[in-house]
Amino acid sequence: MSVPYRIESPSSNAVGDKIPASERIPIIARPFVSDRAKKTLDIVEKFVEEECIPADAVYQAQIGDTVKERFDAHPQIVEDLKKRARELGLWNMFLPANHFKEGAGFSNLEYGLMAECLGKSVIASEATNCAAPDTGNMEVLAKYGTQKQKDRWLKPLLEGKIRSAFLMTEPEVASSDATNISLSMRREGNEYVLNGSKWWSSGTGDRRCEIYIVMAKSDPSNTNPYKQQSVVFVPFDTPGITIKRMLSVFGFDHAPHGHGHVTFENVRVPVENICLGEGRGFEVIQGRLGPGRIHHAMRSIGAAEKALEWFIARINDPRKTPFGQMLHKHGIMLERVARSRMEIDAARLQVLNAAIMIDSKDAKFALKEIAEAKVLIPQVLMDVLDRAIQSYGGAGISQETPLASMWANGRTMRIVDGPDEVHLLQLGRNENKRGPAMLERIAWQKAKSAEMAKAYGVEIKDVLQLDRLSTSNKSRL
Ligand SMILES: Cc1cc2nc3c(=O)[nH]c(=O)nc-3n(C[C@H](O)[C@H](O)[C@H](O)COP(=O)(O)OP(=O)(O)OC[C@H]3O[C@@H](n4cnc5c(N)ncnc54)[C@H](O)[C@@H]3O)c2cc1C
Repeated sequence: MSVPYRIESPSSNAVGDKIPASERIPIIARPFVSDRAKKTLDIVEKFVEEECIPADAVYQAQIGDTVKERFDAHPQIVEDLKKRARELGLWNMFLPANHFKEGAGFSNLEYGLMAECLGKSVIASEATNCAAPDTGNMEVLAKYGTQKQKDRWLKPLLEGKIRSAFLMTEPEVASSDATNISLSMRREGNEYVLNGSKWWSSGTGDRRCEIYIVMAKSDPSNTNPYKQQSVVFVPFDTPGITIKRMLSVFGFDHAPHGHGHVTFENVRVPVENICLGEGRGFEVIQGRLGPGRIHHAMRSIGAAEKALEWFIARINDPRKTPFGQMLHKHGIMLERVARSRMEIDAARLQVLNAAIMIDSKDAKFALKEIAEAKVLIPQVLMDVLDRAIQSYGGAGISQETPLASMWANGRTMRIVDGPDEVHLLQLGRNENKRGPAMLERIAWQKAKSAEMAKAYGVEIKDVLQLDRLSTSNKSRL
């Protein structure tokens, strides 16, 4: 197996960086990272920096220009990089060791460090078979699939031979609340009949996408709204399925992958295609978003690092000297660099902490940390990208740098993974449960102050009189 380009590393570490990724792991995470993972992490970093990022531009060029060309394309560079990744032992790193035998055997933390590297390139995730939505879909098949379903779809997915899509969101309903999902699924004999439409079905544009994992309403009259839905495996070429159009993201078509608006008209699939069982759709989507819940956040840290790299490169460009000096001589830029550095470092700790929490038990145990990561990391990415874009002036919002398309991608993260508001409400509600206890604590401390003041013969003015408020309303607490 060989690739048509020359591989030549200018240094023992990834180009331009003296310290390899394994030595930059935050110190609080290091005890949880195995030697094998550290070695692999350094290989991932070199692969991304020296092969995938340079290949991104080739990939874009190989996709072509017209809509037809773009959605028919399967750039050769992807297949060559896949071969290369396999030679390097970089394959399916995303499937966590403690849950799946099919993966490369890394923990969520270990994969999180690798995913950060992958997040710096457009094609690195696909090249290593760690791209969404296949990752979540493989988790579904590995976790809930029957042997027959696994043989038919999981095996080729794990080998990177086919791709897949997850169809939950619908144009007619607010899909951030999955109880609203209404594509109808009716049983007729040994078949299910599906009618309705889906959109934002990522991956449906790719001609290698062979399997749709579809959430549908199978039991609309069930009194438990969480038992009304089912998930079913639908081959992409089943009669009655039409891809009406592809949606764009701020004008980017994301071809050949794409995001389809797909209609189902009397689409028939055998009952054996059910996932887990009728009425168990919520279990499946929750399981699907198990460890993979923070993959986007992990990659976004890498994207933020890349934005900062481009930012620093721009402010050190000797050809561009507004008002007589390079941009880094203008103090405001250094402040923005410093803020970006701090925010990325804090965000990384946050996402790695969430990964460690998941590894220590499961995704349920880490609900708070996962929600925090989903809100915080996209925000940090947006802020860093915005500063980097600003430093390039007009070039920053054009196709001349990767920053504009990274911004468009990054902005979707505040919606794709469940809108910010949903996570914020969950976090806020849980945090607010401490209200009565906090009132009680402050009242107690105030009362203690009064007692101490009395002992010392001083007077404390307490305008709010929280001690009285709390004790007089104690029955309400
Ligand atoms: C690039 C991209 C790729 C995607 N890929 C897929 C995919 O592969 N498969 C798939 O099924 N879906 C996919 N989606 C869809 C995505 O999951 C949904 O857009 C998301 O869940 C929100 O659902 P909705 O669009 O129906 O918005 P709605 O549910 O209508 O929500 C609209 C807005 O209402 C507000 N809101 C929602 N809930 C609350 C609340 N509790 N409190 C206050 N405000 C609230 C938020 O501001 C939210 O953005 C993708 C989306 C994008 C942009």
